[in-house]
Amino acid sequence: MDSYLIQVNGHSNRAPVLDIHLSTNGNSLSLGKVKGRKPRWAVRASEMSKKTFNPVRAIVDGMKVEPNPKKAMISLSLGDPTVFGNLPTNDEVTQAVKKVLDSGRYNGYAPSVGYQSCREAVAAYYNCPEAPLEAQDVILTSGCSQAIELALAVLANPGQNILVPRPGFSLYKTLALSMGIEVKLYNLLPEKSWEIDLKHLESLVDEKTACLIVNNPSNPCGSVFSKSHLQKILAVASRQCVPILADEIYGDMVFADCKYEPIATLSTNVPILSCGGLAKRWLVPGWRMGWILIHDRRDIFGNEIRDGLLRLSQRILGPCTIVQGALEHILHRTPPEFYHNTLSILKSNADLCYAALSAIPGLQPVRPAGAMYLMSVQMMSKNC
Ligand SMILES: *Cc1c(COP(=O)(O)O)cnc(C)c1O
Repeated sequence: MDSYLIQVNGHSNRAPVLDIHLSTNGNSLSLGKVKGRKPRWAVRASEMSKKTFNPVRAIVDGMKVEPNPKKAMISLSLGDPTVFGNLPTNDEVTQAVKKVLDSGRYNGYAPSVGYQSCREAVAAYYNCPEAPLEAQDVILTSGCSQAIELALAVLANPGQNILVPRPGFSLYKTLALSMGIEVKLYNLLPEKSWEIDLKHLESLVDEKTACLIVNNPSNPCGSVFSKSHLQKILAVASRQCVPILADEIYGDMVFADCKYEPIATLSTNVPILSCGGLAKRWLVPGWRMGWILIHDRRDIFGNEIRDGLLRLSQRILGPCTIVQGALEHILHRTPPEFYHNTLSILKSNADLCYAALSAIPGLQPVRPAGAMYLMSVQMMSKNC
C-alpha cells in the first residue's frame, strides 16, 4: 500500500494535510461487473429499507375516515404540539435563534457530538448532586429520535434483544428491527396506572439482552412513575446487569400533584443513557435538537461506549448549528411561566379528553399524570 500526502487550503500558515492511501496491487482497481454477461439494471431497495416500518405513519398516512355529519368531532390531538396552535413556544426561544442566525457565527460544521459550549450548557442544566454531569457526558443529536438510534446502535448488536414497553412509543421497534435487533415487549399495567409488570419484565431478560428501555413520563400512557417504582425497575436492571436506555423527552412535563424523578438520580450503579431534547418541553419538534446524557458512575460503559457513541455521531455530524448556538439561551433564559403555562394547557386538555372518553361505553381511560397523552383500555363486551 502506497501513501501520498496532499496539501489543501495552502494559504494558511497551518495548512491542513490529507493523508491518502491508495491500493496499488491492482485488485481493488479492477473495474466492471462479471465478465461475459451483458450488465442489466437491477436496482432494488435494500434489506434494511424493507425492514424499516413505522406503524404510526403507516396508519396515519393511509387513513381515510368520513366524519359522521350528525355528530360533533372530538379532536384527540396528535403527538406534535404545534399542530393546533394552542401551544406556541416562548418568545425567548424564537429570539435566541434569530440572533444566532444574524450573527453569522454558526454556519460552519460543528464537532459531531456538538459544540463544547453547548454540551456544557446541557450538562449544567441537568447536573445535580445525585447524578453529576459534565460536558463530556453530553452528546448532541438530531432530535431525541437520533439520540435513541445512537444509544441502540452502540449498545446492541444484530441478533441481540432489547426490552421495550407495551403499550409504548413505536420508534423503538422501528429502529431496532431495521438494525436486526430483536424486540421483547414487557407489559405495562393499566390497573396500576401503567406501571411496569416487573415480574414479566425480569422474565424476559436473557443472555442476549442488550438494554432495557424505560420511557418516563410515558408516550402514549401519560403516566409518571413514582420514585419507589423507578427504584424497583433499577433493582431489576442491577440484578440482571442490563443497562438502561431512558427516554426522558417528557422529563419535567408532569401535572402539579406529582413529581418527575430522572431515573439516573436514583441509582449509583446502573449505567444509563438518558435521551431527551427540545421537541416537547420547548414545543419545537421541527428544530431537531436532542441529546444523550451518559450516566456511568461505576465506569461500566467506560471509554468503550463513549468512543462508540463518538464514532456513531460522526456518521451524521450532529444537529443543526443554528439551534446549537441558541441552546444555552433557550435552556437558561426561558421564563418559568412558560413551562407552567404549557402544563396547565396540557392538564386541561387531559381532563377534557378523560371526560370525553369516559362517556363512551366500553372505554376505560386511565387519568394521565403528565406528558401529552392519555391511554384507554377497551373493556371486553359480552357480545363480541
Ligand atoms: C416525540 C418523541 C420522541 C422523539 O423526539 P424528537 O426530538 O422529535 O426526535 C422520542 N420519544 C418519545 C417518547 C416521543 O414522544
